[in-house]
Amino acid sequence: MLVGIMGGTFDPIHTGHLIAAERARVEAGLDEVWIMPANTPPHKPNAPKATSQQRWEMVCLAAEGNPFFRPIDIEIGKGGVSYSIETIELLTSQYPDYTFFYIIGADMVQYLPQWHRIDDIVRQIQFIGLARPGYVLDVDLLAESIRNRVHIVPMPQVEISSTAIRALRQKQDPVRYLVPDKVRQFMEVNHLYES
Ligand code: ATP
Ligand code: MG
Repeated sequence: MLVGIMGGTFDPIHTGHLIAAERARVEAGLDEVWIMPANTPPHKPNAPKATSQQRWEMVCLAAEGNPFFRPIDIEIGKGGVSYSIETIELLTSQYPDYTFFYIIGADMVQYLPQWHRIDDIVRQIQFIGLARPGYVLDVDLLAESIRNRVHIVPMPQVEISSTAIRALRQKQDPVRYLVPDKVRQFMEVNHLYES
């Protein structure tokens, strides 16, 4: 069983995440993609705006309708700061026969050397890296031990970010099609990112 793990803050989840997850699934022949919101991401200076529960609900709404996508609540269920190495150790012990790939955009590929315990991480899992506007996707910039574990797959440049969606919401600008419709409705009903 080949499983892609699409981790993120998902504050909110958007179409860029879903396209990346689907491209990785198809290009790498993954059986499933598990979409996993972080509780508190270690690398972000500001706490997420939406609660873990709200981000979880938006992930569930976004995953609906794709039989290969499965929302996973290990990190938000556990609470605290979500270190990938701890999640990876849990996953590999819980599913010893599965092969896991972390799916990451170019910004995270660049940032890989700074991941907490990256040397342990690359011993246990591999990465699928995808293009993202504004970031260089060049594995040659990485040390060999990391580079050998990163597989690049084709991805259209999708210029969508959660930051931009929060900014649009704050200005009361529409976000239709930047997020799945059910996510847009959830944000509206819950007045998310309005201030
Ligand atoms: P924020 O602006 O709040 O940081 P974000 O849009 O970057 O939000 P994250 O939840 O931080 O979303 O990202 C989760 C993962 O999805 C990361 O690996 C990131 O590189 C990837 N990703 C997000 N948006 C895109 C995109 N438009 N194209 C490719 N990868 C993306
Ligand atoms: Mg980000």
